[in-house]
Amino acid sequence: MTPERIPFLDLRPGEDDAAVRGAIDRVVRRGWFVLGPEVEEFEAEFAEASGAAHAVGVGNGTDAIALLLRAIGVKPGDEVIVPAITAAYTGLAVLMAGATPVFGDVDEETLTLAPAACEAAVTSRTSAIIPVHLYGQAADMHPLQAIAQRHALAIVEDCCQAHLGTCDGLPVGTFGTGGAFSFYPTKNLGALGDGGAVITNDASTADRIRRLRNGGQVDRYVHADPGINSRLDDLQAAVLRARLPLLLRWTTRRREIAAAYQERLGRAVHPLRLRDNGHVYHLFVVRSAERAALQTHLRASGIDTLIHYPVPLPQQPAFASLTQKDAPVATRVAQEILSLPLHPRLTDAQVERISSAVDQFQKGHILA
Ligand SMILES: *Cc1c(COP(=O)(O)O)cnc(C)c1O
Repeated sequence: MTPERIPFLDLRPGEDDAAVRGAIDRVVRRGWFVLGPEVEEFEAEFAEASGAAHAVGVGNGTDAIALLLRAIGVKPGDEVIVPAITAAYTGLAVLMAGATPVFGDVDEETLTLAPAACEAAVTSRTSAIIPVHLYGQAADMHPLQAIAQRHALAIVEDCCQAHLGTCDGLPVGTFGTGGAFSFYPTKNLGALGDGGAVITNDASTADRIRRLRNGGQVDRYVHADPGINSRLDDLQAAVLRARLPLLLRWTTRRREIAAAYQERLGRAVHPLRLRDNGHVYHLFVVRSAERAALQTHLRASGIDTLIHYPVPLPQQPAFASLTQKDAPVATRVAQEILSLPLHPRLTDAQVERISSAVDQFQKGHILA
């Protein structure tokens, strides 16, 4: 008998099913679909949950980054430092703001932006740094803040994988000008479509983003600056409101599963270094010198895995026209990383099956 397949993710509503359907019904019956009362309520609730003074709902996480960059005055010709391993969207958002992404290598053990590489990438044209809280673990914020201060640079945090995450007890997204969040369905807090938000403690940044997301309008049909159309819709905001009260419990479950994996991993397959307990485990990424064999072994055991991300940004064709320094650490680790299934609805029995399958692989490979 072949064992039941364990998919990488299951995005169908579960315990939140009734609340999600109720939210959709409420919006449909009200008949106000864009930038309505659900968006306003969600913004207040998300700001509160994220430990920031303001939240502004936008169309997606990429726009959230690009709008933050525009709000702080990043302009064509400016350079913005981005880690070499992240979703390509982090770099694309810099291009959308008209600036040039410059890729900094990552720390060998946590895969977040390495402070030394970041500082080495600073030039007279650099205007901002985008630390990415990759896989749910905060970047090394204190040294990065010191670099930003030394060179008078802004910090815009990419929090798209780090809802409710902290760094030394402080909420991600509050170390610099603001934080960008995505509510893409696979994220720790996901909508039933695209969505995003910016958080900030600065009222004028929040105001600027509210204007820029809505075509730069200050009054009906008065467009003060060339904004974009990146509005959050009420259906998604209502779904997010239904899910937000469950996010803390889901995060706790993610941490439980991560701890269970952590216990079982060894030398042949090892987890990334845990820097901070504020990790929210968007993904559980392991490293193996024999990644392809590991992935094949898990697939044969009915377990789906993915790679986040197989191609470092400096090697992406979309950025080929930029002159870039090598990111040797990113290039090497991109060959070794593998993401195991981790989501709140994974059962203990599934976690055990995945752990045993990894264990079986390690035993074979340590003895070999
Ligand atoms: C998902 C993600 C984004 C982009 O968010 P979208 O909502 O898909 O635009 C940016 N950066 C990181 C690290 C992400 O994980």
